[in-house]
Amino acid sequence: MSRPPERLLWIDNTWVDARQGRRFTTTNPATGEPLAEVAEADASDVDAAVRSARAAQADWAARPGVERGRILAAAAAAVRAHRDELARLECLDGGKPIAETPEADVDSAADCLEYFAGQAGSLQGEYQDVAGGFFYTRPEPLGICGGIGAWNYPLQIAAWKSAPALAAGNAMVFKPAELTPLSALRFAEILAEAGLPAGLFNVVQGAAETGQALTRHPGIDKISLTGEVATGKAVMRDAADTLKAVTMELGGKSPLIVFDDASLDDAVSGALLGNFYTQGEICTNGTRVYVHEAVIEAFIDRVLTRTRGLTIGDPADPDTDIGALISPAHRDHVLEYIRRGEAEGAQRLIGGEAVTVAGCPGGAFVSPAVFRVENDDCVIAREEIFGPVMTILPFRDEAEVIRRANDTPYGLAGGVFTRDLSRGHRVAAALQAGVIWINHYNLTPIEMPFGGMRQSGIGRENSRRALDHYTQLKSVFVASTGVDAPY
Ligand code: NDP
Repeated sequence: MSRPPERLLWIDNTWVDARQGRRFTTTNPATGEPLAEVAEADASDVDAAVRSARAAQADWAARPGVERGRILAAAAAAVRAHRDELARLECLDGGKPIAETPEADVDSAADCLEYFAGQAGSLQGEYQDVAGGFFYTRPEPLGICGGIGAWNYPLQIAAWKSAPALAAGNAMVFKPAELTPLSALRFAEILAEAGLPAGLFNVVQGAAETGQALTRHPGIDKISLTGEVATGKAVMRDAADTLKAVTMELGGKSPLIVFDDASLDDAVSGALLGNFYTQGEICTNGTRVYVHEAVIEAFIDRVLTRTRGLTIGDPADPDTDIGALISPAHRDHVLEYIRRGEAEGAQRLIGGEAVTVAGCPGGAFVSPAVFRVENDDCVIAREEIFGPVMTILPFRDEAEVIRRANDTPYGLAGGVFTRDLSRGHRVAAALQAGVIWINHYNLTPIEMPFGGMRQSGIGRENSRRALDHYTQLKSVFVASTGVDAPY
């Protein structure tokens, strides 16, 4: 068997080997086949990336915003031009269906670059007359931002972090998840081809240790992490020593509430999208589906019928709905939750089994599972599983379901299906979560702020608000009178 290709670190717009020469292998989770031998960055490599970023950042920040925007717009076009290639890479490295990746991953990254290309030229401060003069404010870049990504949306995460950072005049050192390093590297090359100067987007691959080298580096001013809650806490602790700003996009166990007046077909579509898209490996998923007792039987019938129709298969096949989980270890983790759910008395209505897919012998496939759960304390209704496991829970009235929906340490997202608009807005206001969908689920237009409340996160990505998290405000007071000193 021929050796898989090598992927080095991307520093200063060039391929650089890791100083220690260390490598790890990234594999296709659908087949277990190695895709590439990847250089693993240690603290000295991270330091080289930070120095390259520091050398480039001041000049980048001094350029007019429209000029930065022009380069980001060229990058958006370049990402679109490489749509098929990037979609395939995301499918191979992440096990995600090729039916999803062109739109959900590549277009999402391009939209983000395009959006922040426009925003780069409109960063504005404020002005106000005050006693003795006036002041104005300057939104200034933070400097060097460290980005640390999860494995479920590797390209999208790289774009969601780097585009606003770059638009605001920062440089970024990015560490993709160890399980999915390939698309961030290709993204970096494409940014360079589009004209992004050297040093502004460096990629250092590796595992948690490499991430720690970023969070502990005194030359990095901010960390933006997408990952689990426990990782968020560890990163915040490490970042505290150098008092770095942090954005935290963390996990969730979000409620999706279906009232008895809802369009059931829409609600079922929302629940399927919000549980089984990307094999359920989505942070915002509405994995606690609360359904009014008057419609729960009909709802379950329709969910089961449509779940039976899903095709589990080779992610590279355009007809596949459910691809491979990210790794055999993650598959076992998901199956263990399914076992615990049954042991606790939850009723498994369909799925939840390891599946062998023809042509994908080493693949980590699990059939989408639906449970009926009577007890909110059941572990599968409380903990994030990050796999295709939907729990359906009955409820009787609005106040009760709001109380139960909010009874979680998480607060990432939530959904409400109802034809009663007043109730939709009332429930949206009452849910303690950062993103709420009324009569839909999991749409994340780039114009809309995205992020969690409570233990699901700090800060916001996307929209103009993201720029607040990649800038710091300087206030400048200008005197209009002489200085009247009392001594
Ligand atoms: P992890 O928390 O395991 O890892 C996230 C990233 O942090 C990886 O790059 C990881 O490295 C790195 N890392 C791990 N430990 C440390 C550390 N101590 N210091 C610095 N970096 C560290 O998350 P997963 O990759 O498993 O992703 C799944 C999680 O991400 C889920 O909880 C999901 O909800 C959440 N998520 C949240 C989103 C949001 O926007 N709110 C979106 C997508 C996912 P490596 O993996 O290479 O070892």
